[in-house]
Amino acid sequence: MKILVINCGSSSLKFQLIDTVSEALIAKGLCERIGIDGSRLVYTPAGGEKQITEVEMQDHTQAIKQMLEALTGENAGVVKSLDEIGAVGHRIVHGGDKFASSTLITDEVISAIESCNELAPLHNPANLLGIAACQELMPGTPMVAVFDTAFHQTMPEEAYLYGIPYEYYKKYRVRRYGFHGTSHSFVSARTAEVLGEKYEDLKIIVCHLGNGASISAVKNGKCVDTSMGLTPLEGLIMGTRSGDIDPAIVEFLAHKEKLSIDEIMNILNKQSGVLGLSDGFSSDFRDIEDAFEAGNEDCVRALKAFALRVVKYIGAYTAEMGGVDAISFTAGVGENSPILRRMICAYLGIELDEEKNTKRGEDVVISVPGSVSKVLVVPTNEELAIARETLALVK
Ligand code: ADP
Repeated sequence: MKILVINCGSSSLKFQLIDTVSEALIAKGLCERIGIDGSRLVYTPAGGEKQITEVEMQDHTQAIKQMLEALTGENAGVVKSLDEIGAVGHRIVHGGDKFASSTLITDEVISAIESCNELAPLHNPANLLGIAACQELMPGTPMVAVFDTAFHQTMPEEAYLYGIPYEYYKKYRVRRYGFHGTSHSFVSARTAEVLGEKYEDLKIIVCHLGNGASISAVKNGKCVDTSMGLTPLEGLIMGTRSGDIDPAIVEFLAHKEKLSIDEIMNILNKQSGVLGLSDGFSSDFRDIEDAFEAGNEDCVRALKAFALRVVKYIGAYTAEMGGVDAISFTAGVGENSPILRRMICAYLGIELDEEKNTKRGEDVVISVPGSVSKVLVVPTNEELAIARETLALVK
């Protein structure tokens, strides 16, 4: 079966068409600047040239129409008709505590996703627009919702509750939810496969380090803790997000700088992380690393703080699980940055095989043989994971 995987944001839409038999990518693309002047479609059939088309897309329905035209187009199309697309898998950011697994999309499911909108006001409404547009243009094609939060729903209460009045949990469901769940699930399961061990027997820590970064503890195949919280702002230091801070800093800065809550939240989400720590140098880890190697003090400071935060979480999760068999690095930075992996493992006292540590794009154990905990690089593939979940539900 061919499955279309859609990740719909407020002004952009990423898609991949995946063959579920070979698990190969058939085509992928991106609609950018939806509803904004200068919108365009970037489309790449597997093995073909990237095509960029400037085309007006006033809303998500128009974007999805453009995407479907590209997929069925005469020149670079990859299917003859839309009937060849067996199902659509939608990435949904927040399922609250309503969804512990992926689900076929029905009217009730849409209402339940809507009820989580206030937990992810930027993301969930956009995800719902993508579903509505697909329903309009591909009526009769089964659709599945795959949630970023679902994998983390196995966390015990003591891991997901905050130390604030319980009343706010009861009234508003204020708790840790966690994100990047599809990636944490895919990478932890793959870690067991690579090690040739049973998933249910292992204690695994997954470090998903990208522009957005999160870490999770997976014990016996179930997530027991994760670093992102009610929102993706908590936890690790990220590209532009602060991660954990003393909550009183919000009040302190509000008074000192005469800032509103919205302005402070903007600073914590968009101007902090390695961008803020490097005194505005860059939020892109490639830039930060290049300058780090050249001895730029701002970037040395930013990268060291980033690494230490990861180390603290690895320590906490090792204690929480009573040990750790494997630590897996994934996502843009986790997969591509030998320097950061080296910095983190140096703290942990784990020796790396430096030749393996510089490999790219493959599953590889990078710790030396006999290491107490194994360290791996496992490339994530969230789209493939969504396609698999979708297939399982529509079969
Ligand atoms: P997100 O999905 O959260 O946007 P990604 O997982 O795509 O993030 O990761 C993006 C980050 O990965 C960027 O900061 C980028 O600089 C970093 N990255 C990509 N390639 C490399 C590399 N070769 N070395 C270091 N960092 C890299």
